[in-house]
Amino acid sequence: MIVMKFGGTSVEDAPSIQRVSEIIRARLASRPVVVVSAMGKTTRKLLQAAEASAAGDGRTTLGIVADLKTRHLSEARRLLTTGTGSTSETSSETFSLIDKYFDELKKLLEGLAILGDVPPRGLDKILSYGELLSSTVLALGLARSGIPSKLVDSRSFIKTDDRFGSARPLFDLTYSAIQDALLPILESGSVPVAQGYIGSTRDGATTTLGFEGSDYTAALIGAALGAADIQIWKDVSGLMTADPAVCQAARTVQQCSYTEAAELTNFGAKVLHPNAIYPAAERNIPVHIYNSKRPVDAGTSITADSGQVGEIVKSIAYKRPVTLVKISSGFDGAAGGPFHEEELLRSLTRELRRRHVVPIITAATTSSLVFVAESGSLAGEAGRYVVEQISRLGPVQIESELAVISLVGQGLLGAGSLAATVFNSIRDVKIGMIHYGSSPTTMNFLVADSDTEAVVVKLHELLFDKMAPGIFK
Ligand code: ADP
Ligand code: MG
Repeated sequence: MIVMKFGGTSVEDAPSIQRVSEIIRARLASRPVVVVSAMGKTTRKLLQAAEASAAGDGRTTLGIVADLKTRHLSEARRLLTTGTGSTSETSSETFSLIDKYFDELKKLLEGLAILGDVPPRGLDKILSYGELLSSTVLALGLARSGIPSKLVDSRSFIKTDDRFGSARPLFDLTYSAIQDALLPILESGSVPVAQGYIGSTRDGATTTLGFEGSDYTAALIGAALGAADIQIWKDVSGLMTADPAVCQAARTVQQCSYTEAAELTNFGAKVLHPNAIYPAAERNIPVHIYNSKRPVDAGTSITADSGQVGEIVKSIAYKRPVTLVKISSGFDGAAGGPFHEEELLRSLTRELRRRHVVPIITAATTSSLVFVAESGSLAGEAGRYVVEQISRLGPVQIESELAVISLVGQGLLGAGSLAATVFNSIRDVKIGMIHYGSSPTTMNFLVADSDTEAVVVKLHELLFDKMAPGIFK
């Protein structure tokens, strides 16, 4: 069997859903399990509705809910005007489910208005409606196309801890629950249609797997069922040599390794949930990234093997905005004695973990310790707490509005003179910290956030157009 995950842009309207149905039909012989994200922008709208409701702005809340309802109903109705599948039962089921979901959603939002707050547990429940709705509409689309499918509730098998907003799967429980829930459906010849992103705790509270978590759902299902392939269908033709939104010249990376993909996604390439790589890599299941708008394009194949020998860099990623925090040596007496980087690193890690701040880069020397984190994760109360705590370790300097640029590729290993050429090509740009060598496949450096686009374009030109493969060897 295979897993096919469709992102929000792939199911944003009725024509997209029809296209997806045809993509699924063409692969029925591989026995697909389908995983779907919320229809484009729905999750963000649900978040806005929750915040508006908690802030006492009932008008905005109801407006957003009405828009979302109209959109889901009208796309579902459009599906009814097309296709030939016999669907009277499915279609009345679809419309009553949509009604039911919006009734529940309104009640939950009213609850937030009374609370005057958006508790993480409540937010996860509210956000889950995005995927519950899109999966319902997709199931109707499949029925209209005459494809036998069965809607399943992912919360019954993606079992997680209770870290709402970025819950972690309980692997053993999840893997066996996936097998119990999905194998009988596959055996009956139907296509299971599951929601990405959502799960539930042991006692049944709805959780979510974090931003872009649907990929993670797909990977977990693939690993549990020993899939032949995990396919991530998006609106881009695979993992590209740079973000195509920033660099027009970007082209598809045909092949890369799990390690390269993990590094790229960790450093900001928005093609995959970073955690989605591990379940696949562990069981050696290939991950493919395809374009649902152009299904004939080759896309990207991610396996244990890096492929494309002779290439230095696979792709350029960026993450922005990020903040650099530097803690200086205690030699000036501020930390009360000589500097012990090991101890300091331990205390820092403890403080960051306590507040769920995940540093993107950490580096320690005898004179200082630096870490880089997404600015968002250091904003607000948690960030203030972290900075306050680490200020006790030594004098702290903070630089914000930066971006991390990352060059990723197995070929970096043997590319001795790469750094000189790279920095020479962007010598008019102010470069912050350079981080090279701790991972054999990645080189990172910091630039001002506002220089991001220019640097990505310039380096893309250098590494993918001007330089012949193997030139740095
Ligand atoms: P989905 O429909 O799967 O949710 P998203 O819109 O979340 O898709 O993510 C796709 C976007 O990721 C693309 O439109 C592209 O702008 C961006 N992106 C960033 N880096 C890359 C990269 N290296 N390769 C491909 N896309 C990238
Ligand atoms: Mg997305």
